[in-house]
Amino acid sequence: PLDNNRWFGNKLDIIDFQKVKQPKNHVKAAFVILARNSDLTGVRFAMRQVEDRFNSKFNYPYVFLNEQDFTNEFKVATASLTKANTFYGKIDESMWSYPDHINQTHAAECRKDMSDRNIIYGGSEPYRHMCRYQSGFFFRHPLLNEYEYYWRVEPDVQYFCDIDYDVFQMMKDGGYKYGWTVSLTEYMDTIPTLWETAQKFIEKHPEYVIRGDDSLMPWITDDNFISYNGCHFWSNFEIGSLDFLRSKKYIDYFEHLDQTGGFFYERWGDAPVHSLAVAMMLKKSEVHFFNDIGYKHNPLMHCPTEPYLQEGCHCNPRENFDWTGWSCATRWRQRIDANMVWDEQLYKE
Ligand code: GDP
Ligand code: MN
Repeated sequence: PLDNNRWFGNKLDIIDFQKVKQPKNHVKAAFVILARNSDLTGVRFAMRQVEDRFNSKFNYPYVFLNEQDFTNEFKVATASLTKANTFYGKIDESMWSYPDHINQTHAAECRKDMSDRNIIYGGSEPYRHMCRYQSGFFFRHPLLNEYEYYWRVEPDVQYFCDIDYDVFQMMKDGGYKYGWTVSLTEYMDTIPTLWETAQKFIEKHPEYVIRGDDSLMPWITDDNFISYNGCHFWSNFEIGSLDFLRSKKYIDYFEHLDQTGGFFYERWGDAPVHSLAVAMMLKKSEVHFFNDIGYKHNPLMHCPTEPYLQEGCHCNPRENFDWTGWSCATRWRQRIDANMVWDEQLYKE
């Protein structure tokens, strides 16, 4: 049923007219876009491509989240790009503010210090709230309660390849809980104590950790689990299980991290936070590399290099980021998915 509060004025009929009914056994899934009103053009740029490459065939809904009220302009201009339902949520202030245990004076000093050292986003306060929200809260937003899977989209990203199958159905049928397309190493100055904090969590909860042949840990350390190599999935693209993020083990993990204040005293990104959880608590077989999804978030692109995957794409495979030193795709192939055949030679100049 149409919730009148979501809509407004004379645009109501138009948006209502566009609504589609999902087939009965459709996977419960949605796109999730965290954005400011000022991101409208970038959001539409990304949505246009999501629709053209995939969603005009599958009509999964969009959930937009913001710590401020979305403007009517934002709602109309995003809803008009899709036949699918669009929902607009406001983030509860308690999830976008300082928890009581944070010393805000110390947090400000840390920002100043990181800014002086030219660490990317090191001086930004909103960026920290954003990273903490993406790490620990978005999946608990009431608008996502009814969904099993999410696909994160950010403003200004590009999708290059036609996706002609239902990605969410594939995740579900394959038993996958996390899917990625770009991976790289983190700037360690943003996460000096994240690894030791995660290790303390493992000591507290050894039962949460996957070990042995199923383990993804070899991907995140190069020295037999002593130190973190910084490898993480680039979380501006994620297709994942909301049930995993809502699980007790993930929430325990997030709360353990949050108690240390590292989101504010350092500048922990949600990408390494999610990735360490995935690497510790999911099995290899539950994580999928979407090699077929050509994708760009500035400045990095994943463009499939295999000729059969290139067919429906308009990216240049020579710009594929996977084989550079900064990428973690090679480690993935060598240590996690040795059976994977990648045509790396083909596109080496
Ligand atoms: P980057 O990709 O790490 O450079 O960071 P972005 O600026 O793209 O931010 C990551 C995501 O969070 C994007 O979806 C942004 O739209 C969103 N975002 C960042 N800062 C804010 C903010 O202050 N408010 C809201 N509502 N969204 C934000
Ligand atoms: Mn971004």
